[in-house]
Amino acid sequence: MVETKQLSHYVGGEWVAGPDGDWTDDLNPSDTSEVLARVPQGTGEIVDRAATDAGDAFVLWRRTPGPQRAELLYRAADILARLRDELGELVAREVGKPIGEATAEVDRGVVILRYFAGEAVHPIGEVIPAQQEGSLQFTLRQPLGPVGFITPWNFPVAIPLWKIAPALAYGNTAVWKPAETASLIATRLAEVFQEAEFPRGVVNLVLGRGSVVGDSIVSHPDVKAISFTGSNATGMAIGRKAAERNIKYQLEMGGKNAAIVLADANLDQAAKLAASGAMRYAGQKCTATSRAVVASEVADSFVSKLRQEIEALPLAPATDPRSAVGPLIDQAAVNRVGQYVSSGQSSGGSLVLGGNLPRGEQFERGYFFEPTVILGVPHDAPVAQEEVFGPLLVVQQAQTVEEAIQLANSTQFGLSVSLFTRDVNAALEYIQDIECGMVRINGDTTGVDPHAPFGGMKGSSSHTREQGTAAKEFFTEVKTVQLNPAS
Ligand code: NAP
Repeated sequence: MVETKQLSHYVGGEWVAGPDGDWTDDLNPSDTSEVLARVPQGTGEIVDRAATDAGDAFVLWRRTPGPQRAELLYRAADILARLRDELGELVAREVGKPIGEATAEVDRGVVILRYFAGEAVHPIGEVIPAQQEGSLQFTLRQPLGPVGFITPWNFPVAIPLWKIAPALAYGNTAVWKPAETASLIATRLAEVFQEAEFPRGVVNLVLGRGSVVGDSIVSHPDVKAISFTGSNATGMAIGRKAAERNIKYQLEMGGKNAAIVLADANLDQAAKLAASGAMRYAGQKCTATSRAVVASEVADSFVSKLRQEIEALPLAPATDPRSAVGPLIDQAAVNRVGQYVSSGQSSGGSLVLGGNLPRGEQFERGYFFEPTVILGVPHDAPVAQEEVFGPLLVVQQAQTVEEAIQLANSTQFGLSVSLFTRDVNAALEYIQDIECGMVRINGDTTGVDPHAPFGGMKGSSSHTREQGTAAKEFFTEVKTVQLNPAS
């Protein structure tokens, strides 16, 4: 049995306890008898304190030379690398990510911290020839101030770090609210920043409910920008509030990502990567494959290979080293997937695989659902249009490349997509016409290099990009400076 930890907020360099008795239990989704932590309910007052401390810290942090900021980020990376196995296990326990992927996420966190440490010493402006003789004209990128971060549970290490690390590298300070269900990992990450000796108030963590803590961060006058990742409903509401305050905001939201399989594709490769993209981590990635759009003439053959590939992915508790699929995050998610299965069947779809709760002792105390594939639903059915965020793949058929692209484009989302083909002309048409921010050919819809821009089109994003050099666009503001000779 693991020990239940009582968590605290981290504000102005101090650990601040919440009021006694006002907490939420943080459960292991593979085995809900394990209460990992008690999460205090943050309030508007704690957010106020965190935002004020972040504002005070900003005065010095923005003037701290880039190489010194880089040094602290490198130090944080080294600490995180040292904690690799412990945090990998914690990610598996707290959010149910299979341990192999969970540990790989911690490795990715280390790479992200190192990448943005490097960015802290890169140019932050450019010289522009001036009209006036003898003048020097240049742009200067400056930090925004305290930035509010609201993050989801599904990538509890990588997403907070790919937001907070660039913000700090460019001289901003942070007020961070993680998803309640990832509060323990967030606490360990705050401890990493503390151990790395970031100055007090540069990183602040407030735990608790989105509707209270998140909302207070978005509304706080000292918070000068918001970076959010999560669902569309929450994101769009945050975007409206931020727009009313005329502060910068960045929203990364849901997807309904398609794998398009043309008749000339390597079907073994396509089936393996579609199975992996759809089912690993129980489909709980914004980039998870949730539709396969398959050329009619190879549909039967593809589905039979897909079935074999999915059956080869072990469904098991996340800390089991063999686990590939793992549990859903909570009971509401199990209910939601069940409802989409029923609605898919009611709209004329038939089950190829799964559709039920798995049987067996190891599943009894967790939020498990069988990997599920549905064929033959109309393209406008909710299960083919809405984000399910579970181990559910819809297979659709197309007669031509144009029809496949049009089907892939026919949802409100535009996050990630992949095309399986050997036909370069089809690939060229697809690259031009597909409406997604992340476009793959012969690859999985999930995963992205940590130094490449990440983000979606249409309803998936606020059209900003994260990661890589794109992060500088969001976390800095441009001043155009003209320095003229004194007469
Ligand atoms: P969510 O329910 O929208 O929650 C995201 C964050 O917003 C959590 O910290 C949540 O707090 C907070 N929140 C909830 N209500 C709020 C409010 N009224 N004001 C301010 N903050 C509020 O999303 P989720 O279930 O954690 O994550 C799954 C979703 O994230 C999926 O739609 C997935 O596609 C998307 N996602 C997108 C990307 C991407 O990069 N595009 C990456 C990963 C995930 P609580 O702790 O109270 O829930």
